[in-house]
Amino acid sequence: MTFQEYQKLSRKSAIYPEKYNIIYPAIGLGDEAGEVLGKIKKWLRGDDETEELTKERKDAIEKEIGDVLWYLAQISTDVGINLEEAAESNIEKLYKRLEEGKIKGDGDNR
Ligand SMILES: [Mg+2]
Repeated sequence: MTFQEYQKLSRKSAIYPEKYNIIYPAIGLGDEAGEVLGKIKKWLRGDDETEELTKERKDAIEKEIGDVLWYLAQISTDVGINLEEAAESNIEKLYKRLEEGKIKGDGDNR
């Protein structure tokens, strides 16, 4: 599945009032990103018998990453961004930085 297909398919389940476009998925994105961090935090805390990346841990993180993707797709749709193009543009930016030896450091327009 491409990001473009995902963006289109996921939109069918985007059920929130139009007046909350952008803000609703923005809140959700932060919430779900926190859930990814929460899974990793509990892994690092050592609550379980093993410190290994078990299938259960990996599956739990994958589900939260999927939730993050869903909110990214809805924000993209709400503001008219093609998620596929955003992904491609990001890769272009990163590879340009690699070629120019500017992958480290900060600043959006390196
Ligand atoms: Mg979640």
